[in-house]
Amino acid sequence: MSELKLLEIIRPIWINRAVQTLAKGVSTREDLLGQIENFYNLMFQAIETGDPSWLDSVLSGWASSLTQTDLESPSSILTQLVNEFFEVTLTVCQETLDEVQAMRLLRALLPCFSHAYEKAAQFEIQARVSYVSQQLNQAQQVAERLDRSKSDFIAIAAHELRTPLTLIEGYTSMLGENIRQEQNNSNVTILLEGIQNGVGRLQSIINDMIDVSMIDNNLLKLHYQPVWLNQLLTILISELESTLQERKLSLEIIAFPGYNEVIFVDPERIMQVFRNILSNAIKFTPDGGKIQINGRKLSGFIEVTVSDTGIGIDPEDQTLIFEKFGRVGNSALHSSGKTKFKGGGPGLGLHIAKGIIETHGGAIWVESPGYDEIRCPGSTFHILLPIQAETPDQKLARLYETLSKRQPAQ
Ligand code: ADP
Repeated sequence: MSELKLLEIIRPIWINRAVQTLAKGVSTREDLLGQIENFYNLMFQAIETGDPSWLDSVLSGWASSLTQTDLESPSSILTQLVNEFFEVTLTVCQETLDEVQAMRLLRALLPCFSHAYEKAAQFEIQARVSYVSQQLNQAQQVAERLDRSKSDFIAIAAHELRTPLTLIEGYTSMLGENIRQEQNNSNVTILLEGIQNGVGRLQSIINDMIDVSMIDNNLLKLHYQPVWLNQLLTILISELESTLQERKLSLEIIAFPGYNEVIFVDPERIMQVFRNILSNAIKFTPDGGKIQINGRKLSGFIEVTVSDTGIGIDPEDQTLIFEKFGRVGNSALHSSGKTKFKGGGPGLGLHIAKGIIETHGGAIWVESPGYDEIRCPGSTFHILLPIQAETPDQKLARLYETLSKRQPAQ
């Protein structure tokens, strides 16, 4: 008797047994019978044509109708199903056919089942991968939405705070003028200075918030001008002189290649970057420590490094610190001062520095062996600046034409 005939014979028993097995313990799906019959018919076709891929359509249909619970389950649902069908086949052959017929049918069915196993696993993996990437997409969308609302909040809060702060600043300086003209009251002058300092601190936080919102919304505009890095750094160091003395820190600049050459950057913004990095080096280095600025000229770039002998940064935080509010460590110390040891701020400085450097087409990163307040392994910030030989602004390019050809500044 042919294999097809044998398949015809066992058909009703096989289908009945498969329905019973699959319905066990779970509520019977309405179309279960139809699906099992469909599988059996396709198995018949596969044997008739000698092509097991007849089974692919039903297996891929089942893979795409796997539920969320199925897809999150650690075991492979579809291969289990094919396994159930195989066991049903074995039992039915044993019970219904004699030994020779059973062997004959099983030998014919084996390639079908091995193909079905392989395809079941493949379709299920594809279904799981697409489910996981869909979940990831959703999570990413939620994260993006959250980030956007964080940005919106920063922008709104900064603009709302700016107006009353300007009023406070205006009235405080008018009050100061009046008091200074009327009487020489040093106590009141000290109190007024205190208010003015507070206003200044608030202003710089609000300015940082505005910068963050501009960076996050790609609105940062750069005003390219010819700059000599050595001049820019010298100005900054003289700004920080008294703080360095107060904290007994030494700051050394090593004259590296490229240091004396003119490059086109936005000087205000690049000063802001180095100011942030140097203030951090000051804040996170204990009294008596060293800060060093060095660098090198690479093809198309100047790399400036700022190293300190401070508390260092753990490798897992080295990316986080460049994110918005990406501060690490004890938050109780935050906003405790701009130069005090470990006196952190709101955690916006490095995010802004990264935004400014990346808008220039450069890169910024940090290297440190880790965080240790006792051993102080130090940190090195790397700032990679593209060497722009002229301003991208065509109108200004002519104006600066002669400058780009000038000799290095001393
Ligand atoms: P803020 O200084 O306002 O906290 P930043 O964005 O400038 O924010 O820095 C983020 C965090 O990175 C800091 O709070 C600090 O934990 C860490 N950090 C930055 N620079 C250094 C440094 N030179 N040494 C050790 N930690 C640093």
